[in-house]
Amino acid sequence: MALMNAQQYRDSLAKRKPLKVYLDGKLLADPLEHPYIRTSMNTVALTYELAHDVEYKQVMTAKSGLTGETVNRFCHLHQNTEDLINKVRMQRLLGQRCGTCFQRCVGLDALNAVFATTFDMDKKFGTRYHARFRKFAIAMEQNDWIVDGAMTDVKGDRSKRPAEQQDKDMYLRVVERRPDGVVIRGAKAHQTGSVNSHMVLVMPTASLKEDEKDYAITCALASDAEGLTYIYGRQSCDERKLGGGEASDIDSGSPTYGGQESLMIFDDVFVPNDMIFMNGETEFAGLLVDRFASYHRQSYGGCKVGNGDVAIGAACSIAEYNGVAKASHIKDKIVEMNHINETLFACGIACSANGKQLPAGNFFVDPLLANVCKQNVTRLPYEIARLLQDIAGGLMVTLPSAKDWLNPETHGMLKKYLAGAEGTSTYERMRMLRLIENLTMGRGAVAYLTESMHGAGSPQAQRVLISRLADVEEKKVYARSLALNNSLETVEAAIRAGLEKVRAPKKALAAPLAAVR
Ligand code: SF4
Ligand code: FE
Repeated sequence: MALMNAQQYRDSLAKRKPLKVYLDGKLLADPLEHPYIRTSMNTVALTYELAHDVEYKQVMTAKSGLTGETVNRFCHLHQNTEDLINKVRMQRLLGQRCGTCFQRCVGLDALNAVFATTFDMDKKFGTRYHARFRKFAIAMEQNDWIVDGAMTDVKGDRSKRPAEQQDKDMYLRVVERRPDGVVIRGAKAHQTGSVNSHMVLVMPTASLKEDEKDYAITCALASDAEGLTYIYGRQSCDERKLGGGEASDIDSGSPTYGGQESLMIFDDVFVPNDMIFMNGETEFAGLLVDRFASYHRQSYGGCKVGNGDVAIGAACSIAEYNGVAKASHIKDKIVEMNHINETLFACGIACSANGKQLPAGNFFVDPLLANVCKQNVTRLPYEIARLLQDIAGGLMVTLPSAKDWLNPETHGMLKKYLAGAEGTSTYERMRMLRLIENLTMGRGAVAYLTESMHGAGSPQAQRVLISRLADVEEKKVYARSLALNNSLETVEAAIRAGLEKVRAPKKALAAPLAAVR
């Protein structure tokens, strides 16, 4: 069953052993029926549904480089730059359809990063991780799994390294090594879509030193494995989803879809040898993290652009309901929103188009451009949201409850006094305002704004990579050669000599991430 449909996906989750999920202080008897989780599952189900849609098949599926079969693109190892571009197109499409986070990209990005890094590790150490991971990758494709990439450790005291923490569990680690596998303990935070996943792919969270071998663990386990606990994250205004019925549908702003994050606790979980893909190779932890991060920073040039399309659509709609669509400053703000949104898309496409093949065979994004992409995403969606709130007006936050709209005693007053432009519906205006509130301040803002800031690494993480990858020494050669020489011949000669000089030491040391540029 290489391609599941939405119903098969839902059934496959229901077949798991009962997951231990805590939400709002309670252990859930049936997690998949909870309104927060049900709506977040609807979002993931879209990634299956559209893979069967004639119109979207081409972008949602790909031909496997491992088996030659057609697989969901979320389970695909990128075979060329067109695959990388199609990934971003797919993410924009899905972001438009749900207006939130569809949760499946972390696993895709982890798949490609671990595939490449196990290959490099085997080459260096003669280990046999890559063949093992290949089997996992084939199983992921064939079963059309959602794989939850679990990278972010809780980190405790940020001034201390993993091994220096007072509580050693602040970074997930191996606590026991057995002949048949390892036992792991710790926690992973901000786990997007974890309850909606079939499998979990654990990775280290940062580069590691030689004495931090216990933290250099990459492995896979089932999401219903013994010893796993999920503590579900609160989201702004999430209680509006409770109660059901028309009032909660209206006030939630976007009743059908939602994102999902949880804190995952690994309480001495056993992982058998055939599911271990790094075990103590500290030297490769940093490379794996940087590769994963670069792939995931590319992702944001797709999904957040799709969410931005919804935001722009909402701005245009509310301007019409308010009767200001023709005002020149409103038109100009819409142009600005589009300009910004397409800039982000351009970054996502650019880092894909400039991708290169890795030694393992799959393709990698241009890491500098991917980090530039994500750095822009930490800022520009906030500007789109600011303009959206500007156009919407204050009613977005002073609008009475949907229960007052539905109450016969107040309905008439609201219908009369909340009316907008002639010929438009007050009810639709109200619902559009709720969508805007959701996208910029509510549950949708978790995906559109806070994830834009912190997902795939906070802004500073990209700045560190940009400073590492952007070659200022070369730029200095260009500037000095132009400033200090007076003729065509001498300028060109100085540039060539200068470049050779600055490139020579780098060739010897070439960091693998930089080497693919
Ligand atoms: Fe995918 Fe975007 Fe959600 Fe990350 S934030 S999982 S890239 S939709
Ligand atoms: Fe994310």
